[in-house]
Amino acid sequence: MRQTEPGILYLVATPIGNLRDITFRAIDVLQQVDLIACEDTRHSRPLLDHYGISTPTAAFHEHNEDVASVRLAERLQRGESIALISDAGTPLISDPGFPLVRAVRAAGIRVVPIPGPCALIAALSASGLPADRFAFEGFLPRKSSARKASLEALRNDSRTLIFYESSHRVFESVADITAIFPSDRRLVIARELTKLFETIVDTRVGEALSLLESDPNMEKGEFVLVLEGAPDLGRTEGLTVDEERVLRILLEDCSVKTAVSLTVKITGARRETVYRTALRLTEEWRKTD
Ligand code: SAM
Repeated sequence: MRQTEPGILYLVATPIGNLRDITFRAIDVLQQVDLIACEDTRHSRPLLDHYGISTPTAAFHEHNEDVASVRLAERLQRGESIALISDAGTPLISDPGFPLVRAVRAAGIRVVPIPGPCALIAALSASGLPADRFAFEGFLPRKSSARKASLEALRNDSRTLIFYESSHRVFESVADITAIFPSDRRLVIARELTKLFETIVDTRVGEALSLLESDPNMEKGEFVLVLEGAPDLGRTEGLTVDEERVLRILLEDCSVKTAVSLTVKITGARRETVYRTALRLTEEWRKTD
């Protein structure tokens, strides 16, 4: 069945290990487009061969991204259809493609996602940590001082935190997490997802380093670290200081109803909590008038 149309950029997710993790639609699109732009043409060849895809390929990686984006946008404008794939998973997610998508959309060209594997989503979904609110931080900085500063800024974040890591740096990153986060925070280490030696271990920050050191397999492979967020007191017992500040400012000029609804929109706090706080504040102000 024809899945592609002329002049469209398709962002096609490909497997993160297991070659069978690819959608029927992804295979159709890769077979039917005029060109597949690959992060690394040699890396993608076994996947393309496995599915009998003989579409021409071109290199599209971080070193030629800006120049190649202009060239690909021109080809799209001439009516060619192009699929972008990365070495693994979803393009643009810690992978090349952002300048291309930005340029192509700015030129009024359609961009169509063909969703599929993504290591962070696979790890999060299996982690047992809250998946309703999370922050994906990609790769942490290489230098320890910058890495520690990034982690420090996340210490009080109540969302589940997700990091990508390579085997070269997983020990250093976990050591810095240990230095900055409370030892009882849960940390899920997801390694080699969808592959033969897939491992998903659930530990605490204080025990993570010794766990890594005790298992020689942990020196190899690709990792996703999923870290429990800070306790979310603001959302269960009351508003955070910033949320309450927004509410106070709005209550000075708006009705309770409007102030509550704007605070919910601005901060994302729970309506009941905002409403309860608004009633408490207006009652306090009434008494002091
Ligand atoms: N675009 C990819 C995606 O959608 O997940 C991510 C590409 S990024 C360059 C590579 C990083 O993703 C690895 O260093 C690792 O942190 C994570 N990753 C990719 N495949 C993985 C796997 N099978 N198991 C665990 N982590 C993986």
